[in-house]
Amino acid sequence: CGVFGIIGVQEAANFVALGLHALQHRGQEAAGIVAYDPKQGFASERRFGYVRDNFTSASLMETLPGELAIGHVRYSTAGSKGGTQIRDVQPLFAEFAMGGAAIAHNGNLTNANALREELIGRGSIFQSSSDTECIIHLMARSMQRSIPERMKDALRLVEGAFSIVAMTRSKLIGVRDPLGVRPLMLGRLSDGWVLASETCALDIIGAEFVREIEPGEMVICTPQGVESAFPFPRRQPRFCVFEKIYFSRPDSVIGGQSVYETRRRIGVELAREAPVEADLVCPVPDSGTPAAIGYSQESGIPYAMGIIRNQYVGRTFIEPSEQIRNMGVRLKLNVNRALIAGKRVILVDDSVVRGTTSRKIREMLEDAGAAEVHFRIASPPTMWPCFYGVDTPDRSKLLAANMSDEEMRDYVGVDSLKFVSLDGLYRACEQEGGRNPAQPQFCDACFSGDYPVRPSDGIQRGFKL
Ligand code: 5GP
Ligand code: SF4
Ligand code: MG
Repeated sequence: CGVFGIIGVQEAANFVALGLHALQHRGQEAAGIVAYDPKQGFASERRFGYVRDNFTSASLMETLPGELAIGHVRYSTAGSKGGTQIRDVQPLFAEFAMGGAAIAHNGNLTNANALREELIGRGSIFQSSSDTECIIHLMARSMQRSIPERMKDALRLVEGAFSIVAMTRSKLIGVRDPLGVRPLMLGRLSDGWVLASETCALDIIGAEFVREIEPGEMVICTPQGVESAFPFPRRQPRFCVFEKIYFSRPDSVIGGQSVYETRRRIGVELAREAPVEADLVCPVPDSGTPAAIGYSQESGIPYAMGIIRNQYVGRTFIEPSEQIRNMGVRLKLNVNRALIAGKRVILVDDSVVRGTTSRKIREMLEDAGAAEVHFRIASPPTMWPCFYGVDTPDRSKLLAANMSDEEMRDYVGVDSLKFVSLDGLYRACEQEGGRNPAQPQFCDACFSGDYPVRPSDGIQRGFKL
């Protein structure tokens, strides 16, 4: 998901709509904005679909006045299978002591099922199936005298990944979980403050990047300034390495490093680790593009656009059902026949998950007359499900969890198939010594199985770890 908030500028909701549009790659299922205006109180609009198809109508935006607003773009993860309803679309808003609050959450709580059962047992009335709602109920039950203090109480009871943007009637609040699994940035726009999942959402509104919210930090923004607190015990941060590989936008900067540059360097590492003679290096667009550029630069093999992407189709993997996903590939990608015929092609992609996309692409290249196809993957094999907010399927559907490297190569049907190593990935992420196994610098659980937070709900649902 993507989150965005702004305080201290007129027509705040319009800026939120723009920010969410820049974060659309983080979730395309639904979007919502909550705004506060002293005359009208809180106003909330939540819609299915893209930001641009909903939050550009003047009449809708007129319903969201005020100088304080937050928003969310939704990407559904495992918990919500069986169809999202509008009541699950964020920001969630509730009235309770001290005027209530609205909250937008990126990440996934790993003990939400247990918390929900307990809260319902004690009389809470849930309105959604969202893990985020637990935070609201815990805040409502806290005895603290301010909403930020209640939020600290609540967040000390939840486990898992959260980058949160929340608002009261007078404050914009941002929080990151102690591991800092998901990103959250602070920006400045004239006299106002901005919180956003990624720097690309600051760029779109011309806001200046101030700094990242630190893992375990809570910031409270008012037009007067930003207060900071660290309400949780300090831990070694474990930012999601998959944000760098795939999820974030390449023009964003995370941890001081350009996402594009990380991806390009993964391609450089791949070329060193898995060289092969060929005529062309082609990306699977768009997710494989920066790594393919890096592979080409390092190997000296020319870069070319062997596959053309239709600009008007969204990311395939955000579509919830497998059937739609399968159709999506053909809608989205087409081979540049004139270029490919008779050539030995190195295809670079970000990840192999189920292997269905990779297989289809290989078929298309073969039909177009490619002489050889070599797959190079800019992540290690995806072996484990994510419990922190990225929708990887369970192990039975993960190709690498069920096949050896050789079996995968046969299944995809290519001449060779190689993945970047974990150490190569870490080197590309500016960890020159590679991965520190005693204290890994990132979360890489979907590749390593080394989960930084116990996925209690997952274990309860029968996940074998
Ligand atoms: P596959 O070959 O596993 O079907 O698909 C791999 C390609 O699709 C990659 O380009 C990746 O960007 C995208 N993809 C498809 N489904 C998923 C998914 O469920 N999770 C992730 N992380 N990427 C996916
Ligand atoms: Fe990111 Fe993978 Fe960790 Fe999930 S398991 S937070 S996708 S690195
Ligand atoms: Mg892709």
